[in-house]
Parts: sequence; C-alpha cells; structure tokens
Amino acid sequence: MRIVVTGGAGFLGSHLCDALINRGDSVICVDNLSTGRRENIEHLMSHDEFEFIMADVSEEIPVTVPVDAVAHLASPASPPDYHRMPLETLAVGSRGTEQGLALAQRSGARFVLASTSEVYGDPQVHPQTEDYWGHVNPIGPRSIYDEAKRFAEALTSAHRRTSQANTGIVRIFNTYGPRMRPHDGRVVTSFISQALNGDPLTIYGDGSQTRSFCYVDDLIRGIVAMIDSTDPGPVNLGNPHERTVGELAELVLQLTKADSTIEYHPLPVDDPARRRPLITRAQQVLGWEPVVSDEDGLRRTVQYFQGRPEEVEAAREAIAGGQLDGAVVPAQGTAGVVQAA
Ligand code: NAD
Ligand code: UDP
Repeated sequence: MRIVVTGGAGFLGSHLCDALINRGDSVICVDNLSTGRRENIEHLMSHDEFEFIMADVSEEIPVTVPVDAVAHLASPASPPDYHRMPLETLAVGSRGTEQGLALAQRSGARFVLASTSEVYGDPQVHPQTEDYWGHVNPIGPRSIYDEAKRFAEALTSAHRRTSQANTGIVRIFNTYGPRMRPHDGRVVTSFISQALNGDPLTIYGDGSQTRSFCYVDDLIRGIVAMIDSTDPGPVNLGNPHERTVGELAELVLQLTKADSTIEYHPLPVDDPARRRPLITRAQQVLGWEPVVSDEDGLRRTVQYFQGRPEEVEAAREAIAGGQLDGAVVPAQGTAGVVQAA
C-alpha cells in the first residue's frame, strides 16, 4: 500500500513510518517540522519506498499520486507545544484534517484520524468509554487542542456520512517512548530528564491526578490495525493500567536510581483529574491490546535518554521548575482555577 503519514517526523508519526516501511508499504511523510525532527526519520531518507515532503498540511498536502491510506497525525500534542502554537493547533485540527480528508477522497483511500483522550476533557465518567461525550471547557486554555480534535472528529464523521468515505478515528491516550524530546514538557520526558540531571521532579498539583501510559510500540500496532480496518471508530487506544502522577515519579526515581527530590508546583488550569481508557472496542474490533509493562517501557525510554546526555542536559533550563512556556496557565475570568499544591 502507499500510505501518507502527516506528522510523520514526530514522535508517534516516525514510529508509524518505521512500522509501515518494515512491513513493505510505501510511505509519504508530510511534516512541517514544527515539533517533529528530521533526525527521527533520517534513517528512512535513503529508503526507496520512503519520501519526505516538508509542508504545512493546514495549507496544502502536496501529494498528487494515488494513495491507499492517509494517517493524519500532524498536530502539536504536548501541552506546552499547543499553548505556544494555539492558532496553528486549531488550524491543523480543522484545515489540516480537511486537507487530509480531501486527499483520501481523491483516491478513495482510507483516512485515519489520530484523535485523543482529550476529547473527554476532565471526564465525569471513569474509565472512559467511546460513547462518553466528554466534559470540555470550550474557552479554557486546553480548548485549543481539545476542541480542534473534537472538530476533527466531527469533520471526519460528516465526510463518512455524506460521501461514504472510508474513515476511522482512534482516540489515543498518553503514549511515551524513544524519540520524545527531553524538553517537550510532557510528564514522562520531564521526570526522566529531571532524574537523569539530578534535578527535582516537578509534580503539578499534589500528584493524585491519574493517567494511563501506553508504550509507543503497542500504540503503533493499534494504529496500523486501524489503517487496515474499515471500522469507523472511534476506538480508544491506550493502556488501561492507571497510576497517579506521584506514583509515576516514584517509578522513574526507582528505575533511574536517582536521588532527586520532588517539588510541587501549581496544577495547570483544567488539568484532567483522572484518565483511563476502556479498551473493549479495540480488543473486539482490532484484536488489539497493549503488552508492554510500564516498567519495561520506561526502562527503554530511560535508555534512549541516557544515550543523549547533551540533549537531556540542554532540556534542564526549559523544564526547570515547571517553567516551560505555557505549562502552567494562570486562571482567567471564570475559565478555571489554579489550585495550589
Ligand atoms: P509530536 O509533536 O511529536 O508530532 C506531531 C508532528 O506533527 C510533528 O512532527 C510536527 O512537526 C507535525 N506537525 C504539526 N503541525 C503540522 C502542520 N501544520 N503541518 C505539517 N506537520 C505538522 O506529537 P506526537 O506525540 O507524535 O503526536 C502525534 C499525534 O498523535 C498528534 O495528532 C496528537 O494529537 C496525537 N496524540 C498523541 C498522544 C501522545 O501521548 N503522544 C496522545 C493523544 C493523541
Ligand atoms: N505533569 C507534572 N509534571 C510535569 C509535567 C506534567 O506533574 O513536569 C502532570 C500534568 O499536570 C498532568 C500529567 O502530569 O496532570 C500528564 O501531563 P502531560 O503533559 O504529560 O499530558 P496530559 O496532561 O496531556 O495528559
């Protein structure tokens, strides 16, 4: 198959490109390198079946050959990234998704949208099932990302209804692994970088909020299965093993054998309190479930970071004290409250 991967130079996108190339597909990776890195796909550049196109998919996806599938992953994903690029995030969720759907439609190809657990917002239903409509603040600081993805889901569903397009939606829960940037501001990368630098681990809030962390190899198997399927979704893809952010900090300290202390910082506005996917649909529809334990996945990620000491050291400034641009957004009006730790 010939498959277009938007956002293919990013963390998840580059692993998806690898998986597709490894099984014999041709891949066209379209990325503007706003949060992705050429380094992530450098090893694929000389491959006959791999092509990289540098483009902003919100403007145009310059692919004119027929394709069999479009996997739309382009979008900032880390909260500090989307706070830094609010309009670009809204654009790629809306206009970028429209471009991806149009490209798929021209070829009668399968379109798979990388949506997110953020469509559930700060969920009032736990664990989250696909039929839950979510609890999202439409004007809060996270709305740039949450609503962009909700719009992308609506657009994808409308195309399916109106033109019988072959579309699929996956809702991805927190995923981590090699190729994440040490300074990207997400919790796993921040804790590992801080531990390796011997700096305090910065917990936002009191650390009782939960997340469920999925290792990248598991997640990519799920996306590939969705590309091969004709199921419309949405399908949750994530690891149902839930843990608190405080427990994650303890696990990272244990695996890195670091003697870092823990520092508490204000909780960002609208930070979801609990998040865990119910994956029954993924099991039934895609025959998918994660197999890598948090301990194994984190060990592999720590090893990747240990192989990049300069980058990890350079991330120190950016993540020190949770001062990443936009990591902690002050309350505005009635949009939410910053809770002291
Ligand atoms: P990432 O930031 O590493 O990758 C995103 C990629 O998209 C980058 O390479 C970036 O340069 C590219 N991009 C952004 N805007 C673009 C544009 N307008 N035109 C072209 N390229 C553009 O993030 P990631 O973690 O790999 O996330 C990939 C996708 O998966 C995103 O759509 C994200 O919303 C979704 N997702 C990820 C997670 C996770 O935990 N990693 C969770 C939920 C959803
Ligand atoms: N978090 C934290 N310390 C950090 C970065 C994040 O305690 O240095 C918290 C954050 O407030 C959230 C959780 O960890 O409750 C997961 O954050 P992340 O940005 O990784 O993903 P998301 O909030 O999008 O799930």
